[in-house]
Amino acid sequence: MEKFAIAVDFGGTNIRVAAIDTKGKIYKRIKRPALAQEGKESVKKNLLSAIEEIYQTLPKKKIKGIGLGIAGAIDLEKGIISQSPNFPGCDNYPLRDEIQVDFLKSIPILLENDANAAAVGERWKGVGKGMDNLICLTLGTGIGGGIIINGKLVHGTNGMAGELGHITVDPSGPRCNCGNYGCLEALASATAIRREAIEAAKKHPESELNQRCKGNREVITAEMVYHSALFGDPIAQKIYQVMGRYLGIGVASLINIFNPEMVIIGGGVSKAWEIFFPFLQEEVNSRAFKIPAQAAKIVPAACGDDAGLLGAAYLVFNSNT
Ligand SMILES: [Zn+2]
Repeated sequence: MEKFAIAVDFGGTNIRVAAIDTKGKIYKRIKRPALAQEGKESVKKNLLSAIEEIYQTLPKKKIKGIGLGIAGAIDLEKGIISQSPNFPGCDNYPLRDEIQVDFLKSIPILLENDANAAAVGERWKGVGKGMDNLICLTLGTGIGGGIIINGKLVHGTNGMAGELGHITVDPSGPRCNCGNYGCLEALASATAIRREAIEAAKKHPESELNQRCKGNREVITAEMVYHSALFGDPIAQKIYQVMGRYLGIGVASLINIFNPEMVIIGGGVSKAWEIFFPFLQEEVNSRAFKIPAQAAKIVPAACGDDAGLLGAAYLVFNSNT
């Protein structure tokens, strides 16, 4: 009998839920605002109602389990959100037990970090098919990371391994959300690009970027900077070039540490690939050891927004519960 997983990608902005079969086919999907800022009761309520909407579309005996990819540090065994900047007031929140109620009482629920789930999704259905050693970076509002070695996710002692957005790439760099200075996330995320672009547009009122936002710099987004860069604005291009260099510094270290077959880069910021990639590759070539640098293919992700959902489903089908 064909089985389904209910896959959830729970970020700070949106909850996405889908029914996915064992071949990775997505049958039905929904997207709802996460309303993460409203606290844990609201998080729980929104999550349960989104899951229920998909649950109602499936015959109960065909549901293998629920895979929940969530932005934050997760205690996998206990099913607890240990710490998450995206969900204020939810530190040490026993999310799995809280949602294992009513209609979900007898269904296995598995939690995983969302970026780890995305790495698994890219390995299952995306660009990392057949690879046993890969690293996945998701460049969005923050930067998430997932490490797969010998075909398995690396979780570390507390389930917190793979926080690749928080490796220091410039000790005197800007302050990061985590409290450290010069993290990759503070220099190569959409948030970092926006911050740099607002500064640059202020200094260069004649720039295409400043014209594009009609002088209202608060509306600048990383995507807007990308469009200005494509249009030929040197100010906007420079921002993505610098971001590419910082990303390259981080990736060079990852290549030296893990000697992966592939480094996959996804998330909204990766759309600007053709602008930042040459700078990324140049830093890797000049900083990493030659043999692992040549072995590591650095490629854009293929599953887009579905990577986390697919990974969550794969984990459900391949768990022992
Ligand atoms: Zn940080």
